[in-house]
Amino acid sequence: MSQTNGTIFIVVAPSGAGKTSLVSALLQAEPSVELSVSYTTRAPRQGEENGKHYHFSDRATFENMIATGDFLEYAEVYGNYYGTSKRWLRERLAAGRDILLEIDWQGARQVREVFPDAVSVFILPPSIAVLEARLRGRATDSEEVIARRLSEARAEIDQVAEYDYLIVNDDFEQARLDLISVIRSQRLRGERQCRHHQAAIAAMQTPA
Ligand code: 5GP
Repeated sequence: MSQTNGTIFIVVAPSGAGKTSLVSALLQAEPSVELSVSYTTRAPRQGEENGKHYHFSDRATFENMIATGDFLEYAEVYGNYYGTSKRWLRERLAAGRDILLEIDWQGARQVREVFPDAVSVFILPPSIAVLEARLRGRATDSEEVIARRLSEARAEIDQVAEYDYLIVNDDFEQARLDLISVIRSQRLRGERQCRHHQAAIAAMQTPA
């Protein structure tokens, strides 16, 4: 599978870095970017809708999808499976759409192997202390879960150098603008602009 017209943006962050809020703010500012809806075996949280936040499925169905090669990437995160549909992504890219994958680091590695042109972004919290405070502020996780997430965050942060862009989510508005800039600058790349504006450029090259 090689990349066609659209661009794949991969956004990765440790739990509590503010990734979900940043991604929703980005999609509001750039509605033409399409978010890939992942498959997962995790139970829906309150307010989550099947087909909108995730395609919720049971383990047997998910494992069957793995066996039939339905996933571009998949990983086990906190005891549940998560995966990206290969077919959906291929169709949307072929239609020229830019796709955003909000996935974990394991999935990001797999996607970059298949699509070396994918643009990867890592969202970093300003410090471990801030990350810890944010995780505690959610008041949904036990001490054990918080400790596990912090240790996983440290391991993920070790890999930041693998990413094309690094955004520090200290000030939300600044981080939002940074993420929008990544998408916009990618869209303005010469090669892509030449493709999009082929006719206009050709017309300008024609002598009067
Ligand atoms: P949550 O259960 O909090 O929605 O997500 C847990 C983690 O799984 C997050 O880091 C999220 O980005 C990641 N995740 C969500 N969808 C996918 C996916 O399709 N593939 C992979 N590899 N990770 C995913």
